Amino acid sequence: MAQLIFEKSRMGRKGYTLPKNDVNIDINKSIDSKFLRKQDLNFPEVSELDVMRHFIELSHMNHFIEKGFYPLGSCTMKYNPKSHEALVRHPCLMDLHPNQPQESVQGALEIMFELQKDLSEIAGMAQTTLQPVAGAQGEFTGLKVIRAYHEHKGNHHKNVIILPDSAHGTNPASVALAGMKVVEIKSNSKGMVDLEALRSVVNENTAGFMLTNPNTLGLFETQIEEIAKIIHSVDGLMYMDGANFNAILGIVKPGKIGFDVMHYNIHKTLSTPHGGGGPGSGAVSVREDLVKFLPCPLVHCKDGEYYLSFENEETSIGRVHSYFGNFAINVRAYIYLKMLGGKGLREVSENAVINANYLMKKLEKTYLIPHNHTYCMHEFVASGDWQKEKCTKKNDDNTICQIKTLDIAKRILDKGYHAPTIYFPLIVHEAIMIEPTETESKQTLDEFITAMLEINEECINNPQIVLNAPTNTPVRRVDDVKAVKELNVRYQK
Ligand SMILES: *Cc1c(COP(=O)(O)O)cnc(C)c1O
Repeated sequence: MAQLIFEKSRMGRKGYTLPKNDVNIDINKSIDSKFLRKQDLNFPEVSELDVMRHFIELSHMNHFIEKGFYPLGSCTMKYNPKSHEALVRHPCLMDLHPNQPQESVQGALEIMFELQKDLSEIAGMAQTTLQPVAGAQGEFTGLKVIRAYHEHKGNHHKNVIILPDSAHGTNPASVALAGMKVVEIKSNSKGMVDLEALRSVVNENTAGFMLTNPNTLGLFETQIEEIAKIIHSVDGLMYMDGANFNAILGIVKPGKIGFDVMHYNIHKTLSTPHGGGGPGSGAVSVREDLVKFLPCPLVHCKDGEYYLSFENEETSIGRVHSYFGNFAINVRAYIYLKMLGGKGLREVSENAVINANYLMKKLEKTYLIPHNHTYCMHEFVASGDWQKEKCTKKNDDNTICQIKTLDIAKRILDKGYHAPTIYFPLIVHEAIMIEPTETESKQTLDEFITAMLEINEECINNPQIVLNAPTNTPVRRVDDVKAVKELNVRYQK
């Protein structure tokens, strides 16, 4: 491993010299001694070049899309154009203050207005709030809107949200946060909503149904109209978790097939670098009669003038974030949409889907793919079950050597890739969830396929190398159970 910055330190070496103090005060006299540091801190003393090398080395220990393929299922780790970064850093955008008079920020308001409009159009819905700052917060917002819809009608008993067992983990959590109850139903053997199971739990307390589409198995739920009919028959609302929208952009309008509310994961689908947990944007689109419940303000336009509208303040669920959400993330989405246009957006999804299907087909003889009865959408879920079965051996000393999905994922790191998402969704044994995204070339996919086939060979012929992986990463296999229980990230020489 590279030298850490503390090890590079040499007494007296400097990377920066402070200007001479031109204020004539004696710090020891003018500041109470209890606030003064008693001993020197152990800061590294290094040159500017040392500092540069330190941070570049650190960055190389990490994995990022510009370094290599990043097939982390459900996370849409695609390449995001650098032109967005340049544009969003333009002083005309970056130096704005959210409290400026509206006539001085007409351009920013126009961007928000246009984005509200474009997202509503893509969703097939009436209006969109840009305020939520994460997918999960979009869920919370959309569910509060559903709750407000029922409360507004005096239907206080309607407080149950039904969702399938393939739901993303944030879904039930958001339902609970929004003050409602979760009823989970099993998926059928094809990975779809089981209509009989659904019918058996729908009743007058049903507030709505929440579905990720394409679902977390990477499959398009084909029975939406039937599901919507069942849910709407008891005046429930249909919520779509749109985090997987990069599979259906410009192809399916959720509002036209029975959904009433949806959130986008702007940072996934519409292009923002989003490793490490943020910042994000979880815009929420709703049908016409739900607009009055959205957070205020929305941006409206009258006679060519853009303004913040608080006209729904009485019925609104209230703010979910200060000011206008993560404005800079939304600007990136605006640029992305305007650069691609309708046709380009459709191509995004076509490429995402074809890339995933190509990988799935090339791997299906080597890795178990439980739901390959049909084409997948932007991702698919494989399983390490075959490798686990084939590669369980009793050693001479009676210990058991068994390859699991975790080992395969660790070996993928050795091949220079980020691992796929593993052990999710929960309904697939030893799950390996692979999302190649639309920005990868056939060559990259072919290289990844070769690596996956090699790993399978290793599982059979040289299992120890898989069990010991990773061996060429800056950090070897960590004890993740211990890391959760006794996390200690402090550097000690
Ligand atoms: C990523 C994701 C979410 C949560 O989004 P965050 O921005 O991480 O809060 C919700 N649902 C699905 C299906 C997702 O893939």
